[in-house]
Amino acid sequence: MDQHRRIFLATAGHLAGLATLAACHDSSTSSTSGSGARNATPASVRSAYPFGLGVASGSPLPDAVVIWTRILADPFDAAATPAVALPVRWEVADDDRFARIVARGTASAIPALAHSVHVDVRGLAPDRWYYYRFMLGDAVSPVGRTRTAPAAHSMPARLKLAVASCQHWEFGTYAAHGHIAAAAPDLVAFLGDYIYEWGPYQRQHPQRAVRVSESFTLADYRSRYAQYKSDAQLQAAHHAAPWIVTWDDHEVANDYAADRDERLDPRFVQRRAAAYQAFYEHMPLRLSVPKPGDFANLRIYQRYDWGRLARFHVLDDRQYRAWHACPPMGRGGSTSVLRRDCPALGDPGRTMLGDAQQRWLDDGLASSPARWNILAQQTLMAQNSQLPFKREDDVRIWTDGWDGYPLARARLLEALQTSGASNPLVLSGDVHSFFAAEITRHPTRAASRSNPVLASELCGTSITSPSRPQQRTDDYVAINPGIKYGRSDRRGFMLLDVTPAATTAHFQALADVHDAQSALATAASFVVRSGRAGVVKL
Ligand code: FE
Ligand code: CA
Repeated sequence: MDQHRRIFLATAGHLAGLATLAACHDSSTSSTSGSGARNATPASVRSAYPFGLGVASGSPLPDAVVIWTRILADPFDAAATPAVALPVRWEVADDDRFARIVARGTASAIPALAHSVHVDVRGLAPDRWYYYRFMLGDAVSPVGRTRTAPAAHSMPARLKLAVASCQHWEFGTYAAHGHIAAAAPDLVAFLGDYIYEWGPYQRQHPQRAVRVSESFTLADYRSRYAQYKSDAQLQAAHHAAPWIVTWDDHEVANDYAADRDERLDPRFVQRRAAAYQAFYEHMPLRLSVPKPGDFANLRIYQRYDWGRLARFHVLDDRQYRAWHACPPMGRGGSTSVLRRDCPALGDPGRTMLGDAQQRWLDDGLASSPARWNILAQQTLMAQNSQLPFKREDDVRIWTDGWDGYPLARARLLEALQTSGASNPLVLSGDVHSFFAAEITRHPTRAASRSNPVLASELCGTSITSPSRPQQRTDDYVAINPGIKYGRSDRRGFMLLDVTPAATTAHFQALADVHDAQSALATAASFVVRSGRAGVVKL
């Protein structure tokens, strides 16, 4: 028996033994939730079962999908997994009993990539559902359900799309993910803040909650993903459908821009590389396999076609953006400013996407055969001034979203219009609120013949992360002509029904984010009709 095989058998035996032991343990002794607002993680997740983080799939093409897992003997102790490469078997089948297996193989889960496994399963049939699972020794993973995209030239009758973002662990349960799984969408788009780098809050003073154990190192970020992905409802949403993903700031650090963080930390680029690596290790991304050390930059902007029905332009508006305009004295990051007090906002050199990504987007729009051109991206694009204004100069904005990059936004709108791409639809996250909006070139004026609606925007609320009181959001809606609806007091997600004739969005709102079994109701629905930009309330 060769040495590699002996190590594998010993490891598999070790994991199986630990699984038996752990089943007898009391799970209540090691809660990782700092606030107590959250249910304890179930005992099964804490066992030595090597697939405790579940499985996932994503990045679907007509003939391929990426399947993912991570071998982890204990989600709360990375050291419990042996630091050796583990051969993980995988299977893809037509049926959930794996009677008709269509592809199988073995992948090496290496410690340098946290024993994560990404398999780009090729040679599949278009527009088909599949089932997949992984095996290590005697252990078998949960079964995931996934699907391929429709054939390139087909016009699918509909696409059922769930849109989610912002799942701060400490602020509630993942009940919304349970509802996403129950909705059985074709595809899930996750638009950033999958983790928050901030650790649990500790109440050290009645008026002041202090954040502890912020993530800085690769080990920190990995354990944060393990904590989040230990949640059964988040796993259920991954097991239900393929995901396409982008990130926002909290996968790395609050309000970072390119190579600069709020603290102006000279070592921020190393921290960012660690965070990017951990993101790759935990997401079903299709990337030419990076080597450890390759994560200083990570290109995650990608295109996905759903036949000729929809093209997803998945953007990254964090990695390449210009530094924030007019940051607080001695710091980086965002602030709230009056436009006339911040001349940098008028600097045409300030980019949001970077030149390469903007050119790539221009090409993707110009060549798009799709009925719907969906910009799946992280931050709100419609202007959302925080105060009433008379002139454009009076506008008070928050500099972190597209409002902080007004000329880059104008450049993007120009590209949308000149490309002739049909039905531009912007999806966004970040602001922890539902918004339905119409984007025009002059956002201080109402839409008109001379100020046409260039794109429709739908923003999903957060899975858990908190937002401002509803009264302030009502004020925003009242003073910003482009914003037709805003709801900041509800957590949940967006469910989109995309058809050749229209896209209908349902704002799915939880009754109580702290209740893992919370009821769900539709807070509002909007329709965007093909050929007529703008959002219409149903
Ligand atoms: Fe967020
Ligand atoms: Ca954010």
